[in-house]
Amino acid sequence: MQTLTRHKKVNPFKPEGSPFLVAGPCSAESEEQVMESARAISAIPGICAMRAGVWKPRTRPNAFEGHGSKALAWLIKARNETGLPVTTEVANAKHTEEALTAGIDILWIGARTTVNPFFVQEIAEVLRGTDTPVMVKNPVNPDLSLWIGAIERLENVGIQNIAAIHRGFSTYGKSQYRNAPEWAIPIEFRRQKPEIPLICDPSHIAGKRSLIPYIAQKALDLDYAGLMIETHPKPDEALSDPRQQLKPEDLKNLLENLHFACLLDEKSGHREILELLRTRIDTLDRQLLETLAERMEVVTEIAEMKKQLGISVLQMERWSGIFETRIENGLQLGLNENLIRRLIELVHLESIGLQEKIIRG
Ligand code: PEP
Ligand code: MN
Repeated sequence: MQTLTRHKKVNPFKPEGSPFLVAGPCSAESEEQVMESARAISAIPGICAMRAGVWKPRTRPNAFEGHGSKALAWLIKARNETGLPVTTEVANAKHTEEALTAGIDILWIGARTTVNPFFVQEIAEVLRGTDTPVMVKNPVNPDLSLWIGAIERLENVGIQNIAAIHRGFSTYGKSQYRNAPEWAIPIEFRRQKPEIPLICDPSHIAGKRSLIPYIAQKALDLDYAGLMIETHPKPDEALSDPRQQLKPEDLKNLLENLHFACLLDEKSGHREILELLRTRIDTLDRQLLETLAERMEVVTEIAEMKKQLGISVLQMERWSGIFETRIENGLQLGLNENLIRRLIELVHLESIGLQEKIIRG
């Protein structure tokens, strides 16, 4: 095995108070394309690293699969000329060894690799003893444990600087997205792994240029730590993912128009008001839960009565009545109909379950 880099690197995912922004082509197509991309991207304010895939995981054979090892040197040349750290995807132990030997600054594990614990472990073993920063894309399937598991494998070999990339989840059939964002999954990821910076890759979620601004802004509104956006000097001629890559000037424009959240400390005047509003939310949530608990107590009494009288749990007329009136009441209160429907159905299912338990013993 070759000697791997073991020099100390600073945490690249937390540039002081600003987001971690990565841009660059889907694939490294030629030395000229890599250099042209690097020059254009390094001139855009706020960009922290340049991406380019060297080994491309293609869904079907006979597509452009990347130039492999020889393209690593193009990335290093781009880094040396522009000073911008470079990142590429590694999908197995051999890629990882080669990328480390070449001196690639940051690695990422792609969505098709995160699904496979054997490959992730193999990559982690090569990284053991190095302090290479690694980004882990979500697996193609919506499985939060698999995503977190891949990160744990890297943590277990001592990797300190890890970031997660949300790139959406595969679905079968037509959708406006190439990969459905399923925002609830990255939000739950952040709840379970608050110490891991979460970056959004709107390019692979969108699959087309027009959707990228909306997804990028949504990620920033959800307080993501950064963005990875595919950028190509001539997107329409790109050898992979041509429909979703932005021209460098369009990326610059996009970044100028996105609203980046300020750090709360910068807005200390508003901190107290926000605290007060949050306290009100805490109180209201408590009241909601108390009301729900009281409702369940009444359900228990009803179930005991139904048991004595020998009547069935579900009285369809009553349920239809409940459903209609609650929607009407909720709409009068200005609530979203979908929310009321889902909430009432959930509460009703829970009370049916409780009543069955009481009646059937
Ligand atoms: C990529 O970033 O070009 C890529 C192949 O991504 P993913 O693993 O998200 O499909
Ligand atoms: Mn791509």
